[in-house]
Amino acid sequence: MSSRHSQPRPRPHNICSFCGTPETTSNRLVRGRNGLICRQCTRLAYYLFEEQNRTVEYLREIPKPPEIKTFLDEYIVGQEYAKKVISVAVYNHYQRITAPRTAPQLDKSNILLIGPTGVGKTLIAETLARFLKVPFAIADATPLTEAGYVGEDVENILLRLLQAADGNIQLAEIGIVYIDEIDKIGRKSESPSITRDVSGEGVQQALLKILEGTVANVPPQGGRKHPEQPFLPVNTRNILFICGGTFEGLTKIIERRIRSGTIGFAAEITQPHLQNEDELLRLVQPEDLIKYGMIPEFVGRLPVIAPLHSLSQSALIDILTQPKNALLKQYAYYFEREGIKLTFTPEALAAVAERALQLRTGARGLRAVLEETMLEIMFELPARHNIVECIITPEVVKKEKPPVYIHGRRTARRTQ
Ligand code: ADP
Repeated sequence: MSSRHSQPRPRPHNICSFCGTPETTSNRLVRGRNGLICRQCTRLAYYLFEEQNRTVEYLREIPKPPEIKTFLDEYIVGQEYAKKVISVAVYNHYQRITAPRTAPQLDKSNILLIGPTGVGKTLIAETLARFLKVPFAIADATPLTEAGYVGEDVENILLRLLQAADGNIQLAEIGIVYIDEIDKIGRKSESPSITRDVSGEGVQQALLKILEGTVANVPPQGGRKHPEQPFLPVNTRNILFICGGTFEGLTKIIERRIRSGTIGFAAEITQPHLQNEDELLRLVQPEDLIKYGMIPEFVGRLPVIAPLHSLSQSALIDILTQPKNALLKQYAYYFEREGIKLTFTPEALAAVAERALQLRTGARGLRAVLEETMLEIMFELPARHNIVECIITPEVVKKEKPPVYIHGRRTARRTQ
């Protein structure tokens, strides 16, 4: 570094010409002809130049909607409608980002996933990001609060994305954020009066800004504890936000709207095809979400709504066996490494799915049931050298009997 840059002593009244941070012993400024620059801004400038090409590379070939869906199909069972809606929305989103300046102004298409717990909302968002090789962050809307209150700031969501991008702001700016439990920040009452839940609405307002696109000031070490830290500017214009929620009770609002729209005696008749919660959810309209407690501007920023259906017993069996990383494939792999074949009879699979259904946590329950079923077996099997196959029957799942063991000479395949 030239002597022009040498700085004998930090001067607190010197500030970075780019971000305004004052000079301290730990944050020295480099002096140029007409200004000063801090370490953080030098780093940013480096990324801007060096990483730009990488970002462009990522977006050069945007996969077509059928390709996106095919990839999702490998991991997500069912949810055909939601997967299609999302594939198109994601394709359009990245088309918009890469559109030439001469293109008409294209609206951002953030996505809202609605469906019961454990049916694949997070999994879809996660799988998408993996396919697109863009940074991905998951946040929960519940601990979010308006700035100034105890809890988490909205900007911390972006910090997580920035961390997923290894601090590369440009990459983070084309990433995907999944915000779970978005329904929990709805105001609790329909009427915007004294009963309105101010904090819920405030969080919606704060989220609204980052959803529609703003340059947010992200604290590099997370919110509250380090108020003196310089902020990192993150532009959210091209970040795809996917929000998810169960919206319990929403189907009642949809049903009421549909029934009140039917005139005369038709309103009296029961509409059997609309008795099903999943069917009702498919008919969701933005106005239903507003009735639920979401502010209209917020709903307006989530123009793509993808309802997810609950999972039937046969869908749960498929989830156990079909996806590329299906749970049973994972268990079978561990067994295979010990030289043991793991077999679940069709009836055992049905029993696992049935128990998971009773837990009412969607596919999430499958892991819990399997862990419980397999614990003892996996504890003792590696030490039993004369077993070559382990057959799981429904009685094993119900804890009535041990598995059927086939004996023979075992060859462990630990090298695979
Ligand atoms: P939520 O809808 O509550 O966000 P998740 O996506 O987190 O549920 O699902 C929890 C777990 O259940 C996932 O990690 C995955 O293993 C499994 N799962 C849920 N739905 C599906 C699905 N449709 N296909 C395959 N696996 C699923």
